[in-house]
Amino acid sequence: LALYAAKAAGKRQWRRFRPPLHDRVVRRHELQERMDAIVGNGGFALRYQPVVDLATEEVVGFEALLRWPDDPRGTVPTEQFVALAEETGQIASLGAWVLRNAAAGAARLQATTSGPAPYISVNVSARQFREADFVDQVRAALDTPGLRPGSLQLELTETVLMRRDKQIDAVVQRVKDLGVRIAVDDFGTGFSGLRYLREFPVDVLKIDKSYVDDITVDTRQFALVEGIVRIARTLGLDVIAEGIETPEQWALLTSMDCRFGQGFLFARPLVPDQAAALLDGPAPGRRP
Ligand code: C2E
Ligand code: MG
Ligand code: MG
Ligand code: MG
Repeated sequence: LALYAAKAAGKRQWRRFRPPLHDRVVRRHELQERMDAIVGNGGFALRYQPVVDLATEEVVGFEALLRWPDDPRGTVPTEQFVALAEETGQIASLGAWVLRNAAAGAARLQATTSGPAPYISVNVSARQFREADFVDQVRAALDTPGLRPGSLQLELTETVLMRRDKQIDAVVQRVKDLGVRIAVDDFGTGFSGLRYLREFPVDVLKIDKSYVDDITVDTRQFALVEGIVRIARTLGLDVIAEGIETPEQWALLTSMDCRFGQGFLFARPLVPDQAAALLDGPAPGRRP
């Protein structure tokens, strides 16, 4: 639309805007078309990042993270194409693909271990959550052969919780009734206030990486994270610290009784075989 407006406004303006705008429009269009093709032939990929018990170093679950398939022009950042898919509505088919495949991937991972079943955590975007058949998609995912009961978690952002209405509340209640756990992703970044924690049946808070980053150098940041952990405990919620990269961060989080964590210190998002290998041996990472 912006392209046509610029064109109509006259030649000079057209020239001025043309190169960047043209590239962007073409790129968007290309991404859009390729996304349809990729969803059509199942070519996306999922990586699995372990969630670790910070005290015992056991892998308790995995977060499924979507990846654009490798292509000659380099990979496309997930945040970018997920945002585009939200805009175009393609998130409906993309999100359904993720749920199906994450459930199947989790069932395979769970089959490789005799220990407690690791759960699978799936990111759900705001628009996907409002799809008419979302609950059916969740139910279908839960019916995946081999998937252990109670091992699916959905990650919602504060944006969803901020714009709550009857429809959202009903969907959350229905998926909770199916035994699905609800996590708040990127907790602390959404300007949402804390009211929903009282009214909304949330199970898990995922403390955003931006909070975790500075806890070793910034006492105010440390105090904030400690406060979040305490609030969560009081409310009976689990806490996961995201983006742990150093042994020092790990030690501080452990000292404030933050129970779970994720981050490059323990493992990057892994291909299924690597993820399975973790379940047999001890968890990676090194105690400081
Ligand atoms: P997120 O859900 O908050 O996921 C965490 C992101 O942080 C992931 O990036 C992960 O690879 C990265 N990460 C984990 N540990 C570390 C660390 O120690 N250091 C650093 N620097 N990064 C770390 P990724 O995979 O690129 O995903 C970005 C975002 O894209 C996700 O943020 C999520 O919002 C979205 N996303 C990913 N997969 C899906 C999906 O299947 N569906 C939807 N709707 N969104 C998805
Ligand atoms: Mg997430
Ligand atoms: Mg996050
Ligand atoms: Mg994020």
